[in-house]
Amino acid sequence: MIANSLGVAFVTGASQGIGKAIAMRLASDGFKVALNDIPSKKDQLEAVAREIDAKHGHGSHVVPGDVSQEAEVEAMVKKATEALGGLDVMVANAGIIGPVKPLVSISGDEWDDLFRVNVRGVFLCYKYGAREIIAGGRGGRIIGASSLAGKQGGVSTSAYSASKFAVRGLTQSAALELGEHGITVNAYAPGVISTPMSAPFMGDITKILPPYAKPGEPADIASIVSYLASKESHYITGQTISVNAGIYFD
Ligand code: NAD
Repeated sequence: MIANSLGVAFVTGASQGIGKAIAMRLASDGFKVALNDIPSKKDQLEAVAREIDAKHGHGSHVVPGDVSQEAEVEAMVKKATEALGGLDVMVANAGIIGPVKPLVSISGDEWDDLFRVNVRGVFLCYKYGAREIIAGGRGGRIIGASSLAGKQGGVSTSAYSASKFAVRGLTQSAALELGEHGITVNAYAPGVISTPMSAPFMGDITKILPPYAKPGEPADIASIVSYLASKESHYITGQTISVNAGIYFD
């Protein structure tokens, strides 16, 4: 893997929350960063790109698109690779919370909509990210978004939880397949992080957190992603790393 200061990272769901914090952190680490989110958030993505260019100045590229659409992911990853000069790190961060209700009330369509983004989307980003990194011939890093819900089921979160368990299985298998190309594959499993996704549930969640476990900030996840993206992390692969202030122990 090449030095961070020459590297290129691709971050999905980068217009806000954890994805934005990851993009900002990787830019400050020296990466050129491709920024993806859904097309309706193009303006927000461009604002993140301007912030990165103003603070760090070594390059960003906006690639709006839906991570659940195969042709879009293939085109976005190719475009970013061409614009920024390769690909070293894929961060498949984009995700949705989906139906928060008892499983007896979840429709098949709601289930499919959630899996389309959280599982198919991560798979497609791993697939096309891996293809470009392999083509570059210098190894790299693939990093996905799981969750505390990907380690422990919860009431009214069956669909979300199942999707985040799936990311762990995908990550382990991809690590085994891609190791020979010098690619490590890991995931992060945040606990409760203050973002637009968690905002509607924060009141209820904080009531059940132990007193020492305050909600985390997106930067708390960006710091572990920064490490996983670095050269130093070469000896870690297939792991889904919990970041949760002690509300769950592996
Ligand atoms: P968020 O909702 O604030 O941001 C997610 C971003 O992903 C949004 O900007 C959204 O537009 C984008 N996105 C959604 N569907 C997309 C698609 N089809 N294509 C491209 N982009 C798409 O969420 P967040 O809290 O920042 O979460 C980021 C990741 O971390 C998610 O995968 C989430 O499941 C996971 N996570 C979050 C928490 C938390 O407490 N916030 C905890 C555990 C895991």
